[in-house]
Amino acid sequence: MKDKQQEGRPKARRKKAKNAMVNKQIILVAYIFAGLFLALMVYIGKFIAFDSQDVITNSYNKRQDTFAKKVIRGNILSSDGKVLAESKVNEKGEVTRSYPYGNMYAHVVGFALRGKSGIESIANYNLLTSNANIFERIYNDLTEEKNIGDNIVTTLDSRLQKVAYDALGSRKGAVVVLEPDTGKILAMVSKPDFNPNEIDSIWDSITKEDASGNSTLLNRATQGLYPPGSTFKTLTTLQYIKEHKNLSHFSYECSGKTTVNGVVINCYNNSVHGKLDLQKALAKSCNGAFAKEGAKLNQNSFYRLANDFLFNQELPYQGAYKKSSYVLNNKSDKGEIPQTMIGQGKTQITPLHNALIFSTIANGGVMMKPYLVDRIENYNGDLVKKYSPKVAKKVISTQEAQVMTGLLKGVVDEGTASSLKGLNMNIAGKTGSAEFETGKAAHAWFVGFAPSDNPKVVVAVVVENVGTGSTYAVPIAKQIFAAYQKIEKE
Ligand SMILES: [Zn+2]
Repeated sequence: MKDKQQEGRPKARRKKAKNAMVNKQIILVAYIFAGLFLALMVYIGKFIAFDSQDVITNSYNKRQDTFAKKVIRGNILSSDGKVLAESKVNEKGEVTRSYPYGNMYAHVVGFALRGKSGIESIANYNLLTSNANIFERIYNDLTEEKNIGDNIVTTLDSRLQKVAYDALGSRKGAVVVLEPDTGKILAMVSKPDFNPNEIDSIWDSITKEDASGNSTLLNRATQGLYPPGSTFKTLTTLQYIKEHKNLSHFSYECSGKTTVNGVVINCYNNSVHGKLDLQKALAKSCNGAFAKEGAKLNQNSFYRLANDFLFNQELPYQGAYKKSSYVLNNKSDKGEIPQTMIGQGKTQITPLHNALIFSTIANGGVMMKPYLVDRIENYNGDLVKKYSPKVAKKVISTQEAQVMTGLLKGVVDEGTASSLKGLNMNIAGKTGSAEFETGKAAHAWFVGFAPSDNPKVVVAVVVENVGTGSTYAVPIAKQIFAAYQKIEKE
């Protein structure tokens, strides 16, 4: 027995050794598979997290269609629950995109045929992603049924959008309404507009019109570049505040007309504004005062201020937009200075950007990132993702913002926007009448905010080719402020 046992031991040892080797190989193979599996998961994870968004978002990518074949595009809603865009499925299972409000949200919500625009483009990935119940999704995948994409709840308020849309009427121009302390865009209107339900059939005529200069497809609120006119005196005033500790030293005697750096500057309608301090010069929008005092400012430092306010810079905005431009500096021709100081010359700005500048002043010098998507929900209304306000940058000091607010309040209390006084709310803002071509009526501007002591809403209005801001833009802003006041009380 003993011998047998002894004899058996080497055999057992060999077997054990062999087993150990096999085990090692199994473990090695297992490790290799685990490694490969891990690599695959990382790849898939990366694709889901990053690349797939690019694939879906890139409107030229054919693979978008693959997603669209598997998912029914989600709906787009206003913050107060109105359906702004929805997918309708007929008996044959064909899906069509429908816009219940027709022209009213044409640019901001956009369209999803013939390329994508507006929120349809910004939120394309989410609209084509389903976060419905996992078992429901697996069942749909197995039975080759389409999943239902997530819904986008926007920051847009349908009541303000309607008031802004109606108030602009048949004029060309744009309106932007936003919250200065959050950056939420409450309304965005651009005219002329189009019916996104008919985009396929009107495409040729619209694009032909665009070639002739009507630019119907252009979202004027974010892509329309206008001379800022006298709304720009706000920046000239801020630069003056930065360079002068004592504002009471500002004094100007207006005779309706003056010459600065060899350029003749007229006040509107050759009005004689008489003796002015800074507050009155801004309130009356005296061209002479701003051209004369503006020409004494440090133009390099002013150039930096304009850039701090995002002239010549990218805007912190997800959708399509154009960059505003401000080119004047110490090297420029001195003759360009007086016109530039009053918002004429080469300066160009979009309504969204002008709204952001006033929003920064309203928000104590801090610019918030403007945004349109408040949250994403699955089609059952369960929250998928909520977006919160984000600071874009601190542009001016709190004190500078306060002083500027006080001066802008004067424009409403005793100046060119005094017709806003009837609203029983304190409003601060600036009018503008931007000349763009000799002999043609000016573009009318108003940009302002309320209440001036605790700003909750910013309104920017531009009306093309009509005349003064006081006459044509202020009444539109007035209707929007009134509507906002009413909504607040509800
Ligand atoms: Zn004047």
